[in-house]
Amino acid sequence: MSTPHVLVVNAGSSSLKYSLVDATTGESPGSGLVERIGESSSTVVHQGPEGESRIDGAVADHEEAFRLALHAFEEHGPSLSDFDVVAVGHRAVHGGELFSAPVLVTDEVTDAIRDLIPLAPLHNPANLEGIAGARTLFPDLPHVAVFDTAFHQTLEPHAWSYAVPRSWATEHGIRRYGFHGTSFSFVSRASAELLGTPLEETNLIVAHLGNGASVAAIHGGRSVETSMGLTPLEGLVMGTRSGDVDPALHAHLHRELGWSLDEIDRELNRESGLKGLAGENDFREVLRLREEGDEGAGLAFDVYVHRLRKYVGAYYAVLGRVDAIVFTGGVGENAALVRSAALSGLEPLGIQVDAELNDVRSETARLVSSERSRVAVAVVPTDEEWEIARQAVDLIG
Ligand code: ADP
Repeated sequence: MSTPHVLVVNAGSSSLKYSLVDATTGESPGSGLVERIGESSSTVVHQGPEGESRIDGAVADHEEAFRLALHAFEEHGPSLSDFDVVAVGHRAVHGGELFSAPVLVTDEVTDAIRDLIPLAPLHNPANLEGIAGARTLFPDLPHVAVFDTAFHQTLEPHAWSYAVPRSWATEHGIRRYGFHGTSFSFVSRASAELLGTPLEETNLIVAHLGNGASVAAIHGGRSVETSMGLTPLEGLVMGTRSGDVDPALHAHLHRELGWSLDEIDRELNRESGLKGLAGENDFREVLRLREEGDEGAGLAFDVYVHRLRKYVGAYYAVLGRVDAIVFTGGVGENAALVRSAALSGLEPLGIQVDAELNDVRSETARLVSSERSRVAVAVVPTDEEWEIARQAVDLIG
């Protein structure tokens, strides 16, 4: 097949997601997930022309995980040799201030990703493992790293600076970076297409609401503000992450309860958010419990929506003129109630959700605002893998 395809790779600490993506259409003829890398029993669940197949086997590291993935392609199809695979595209989490665009992976680039480990101690080592494994198995293909932080490198100093001693930023990189950039990039372009306006003239507030969640204010295609900061903990309420808390919280918990910094970090990242308030991190479960009258789930929903509404209001002020408020991610795309609740009562700001349109379930990009709404409200499904494939192909020309 002659259209360019990219093998898109997302390496976690014990998992490897891979997807063969047609960079022109976004279609994926084959994909899979290797889990429990480094444990005695690993699994790959592979999707190919025969549907889903599962292979078990012990996988020591990411290189072996790639071998298993290749084996799955050989065994269950499609055959990679039937496609014009032009690159391997790596999702990379933290590019710090060094990367504001996708880059061709070289030893200098992997050194730079290694230097950034202190800013993303869980993610960057896993990304490096993935890159190393893939470079060993695909030595002849160009490898492209696409960073989650890159899209937000357009933030100006007043948006990325914390009001702390300046040397923290200049000497230690303590500043706001923002994440979900690949998704924001994809969704802003798709939103401009939906609105029928040039991206350079379109102002958007985009809410990416998945397990992790963040909002961005995007002015003419450039990110000018976003809710995640130095790490992906800041901002909105998430599945297991608290989002914004008083920065004095760590000191208080340490002094008053004797908790260690590691414990506090863990509680805020893994035991908070929806899980902390409702006991469930999956939004569907929160909605179900809330329907049954569960008080914690009701509170979790209210805090989630209130926080989102605050950010929408703040970003409205940051942008001045807003053309559309866009929802994406598992929650943003599917939970009509979150969209309507977050934007209810904002008619004086020119924002009016159409209840009927908002309730329609669909997998395509669509408007859910009423005709009278000055600001469009849209649901735009994200596709980070397609975006990585596109950026990789653009880079290698
Ligand atoms: P990730 O951030 O891991 O990519 P997703 O974008 O897939 O995650 O979002 C996962 C979240 O979306 C989960 O909390 C899930 O409950 C929620 N979600 C998926 N479908 C629905 C739905 N129909 N209604 C409400 N929430 C949903």
